[in-house]
Amino acid sequence: MTAKCPMCGNVEQWEGNAFRPFCSKRCQLLDLDGWLSERYRIPDAEEDGLDETNPEARASSSD
Ligand SMILES: [Zn+2]
Repeated sequence: MTAKCPMCGNVEQWEGNAFRPFCSKRCQLLDLDGWLSERYRIPDAEEDGLDETNPEARASSSD
């Protein structure tokens, strides 16, 4: 059984391939690298809706 490596497009044997669906460790690492860099991208919309530091919202009437 053979499979096409999604990273480089090489057709490799599946049996005994520890790196499947990739053909080699190199392709596996390349994919992991792209995967991680994608994951570490922090979205911009993070400080939206958070209003923890607003003293006026708590003390309505103290005197
Ligand atoms: Zn490959």
